[in-house]
Amino acid sequence: MNPLRGSILAAARSSRVRAGVESVGATRRVVERFVAGETTADALSCVVRLADDGLAATIDHLGEEVRDTAGADATVSAYLELLESLSAKGLAAGADVSVKLTALGLEADPAGARDRAAAILAAAGAAGATMTVDMEQSSLTDATLRIVRELRERDASVAAVLQAMLRRTEADAAALAAEGARVRLCKGAYAEGADVAFQRRGEVDASYRRCLRVLLDAACTPLVATHDPAMIAAATELAAAVGRSPGDWEIQMLLGVRPDEQLRLRSLGLGVRVYVPFGQEWWGYLMRRLAERPANLAFFARAMASKG
Ligand SMILES: Cc1cc2nc3c(=O)[nH]c(=O)nc-3n(C[C@H](O)[C@H](O)[C@H](O)COP(=O)(O)OP(=O)(O)OC[C@H]3O[C@@H](n4cnc5c(N)ncnc54)[C@H](O)[C@@H]3O)c2cc1C
Repeated sequence: MNPLRGSILAAARSSRVRAGVESVGATRRVVERFVAGETTADALSCVVRLADDGLAATIDHLGEEVRDTAGADATVSAYLELLESLSAKGLAAGADVSVKLTALGLEADPAGARDRAAAILAAAGAAGATMTVDMEQSSLTDATLRIVRELRERDASVAAVLQAMLRRTEADAAALAAEGARVRLCKGAYAEGADVAFQRRGEVDASYRRCLRVLLDAACTPLVATHDPAMIAAATELAAAVGRSPGDWEIQMLLGVRPDEQLRLRSLGLGVRVYVPFGQEWWGYLMRRLAERPANLAFFARAMASKG
């Protein structure tokens, strides 16, 4: 585990650190590797570029921990505008939107967050797109899965996200698999205590493999979100062994992370979807990417030092 992870995740919550970084002026070049841009038009251009390479997209309007009604409603408006724009350009069919429930006010008003998510889901469905509910910190896992299940009663295509780092996840995977859900499996991006989460990388990877087996073996749709060559190999081997075809499952990666590998997997005929974040609230997202990988931190430091 990266020893700086805790400090970087703390910086993710600091507006003072963000202001300092922005004032250096290198921000744009650093951010644009991992973020499509600040506007809906930026997101659309990115989706078009990916589609040219045969890659699908799941688009995330950046923002989290919104506690006021106006902010939560603004998140809904941003997604509705995005879906309308995707439709207008003929890009909506097969697209996916990734939504964080805290950006819809989950912590202040769970029922309101559910209704806002339902509005986005309805718009996505009408446009021919799908929706995935991102998973956030472990204190929100129960509330998030509860809402995903409520949403599935309206539109069963809505996808849940599970984090292999959590001790509970294998059981959650088994339950969602039995329900026939679409399930994105990731390792988990939040700092969690030993009471709820595996702390060692080997344990997280072992959990990921167990969950992969549960999902790929069942009549559900696994969305395998990882950049880890070992996890990708495990998933492709298992998918072939159980006779899954590319439409039955997919690999998902983040924008800017291992782009050559995204193309290589696509060239093998596998379904590959890229997570495309956009919007002004890029700070927390960028910090989580830096916390994951020291090499990303070095990239960030070099760009800051060059003041590009
Ligand atoms: C599509 C998608 C959606 C996600 N949604 C969520 C979510 O809803 N909630 C959540 O908590 N987390 C989410 N995540 C983040 C996830 O939980 C991990 O934090 C993140 O993906 C890093 O884990 P990893 O599986 O890629 O493997 P890691 O253990 O970080 O990396 C393993 C190996 O992958 C390779 N690798 C990783 N990054 C790079 C790189 N930049 N360049 C070259 N090689 C690299 C290296 O070989 C590395 O050793 C999502 C991730 C993806 C891809």
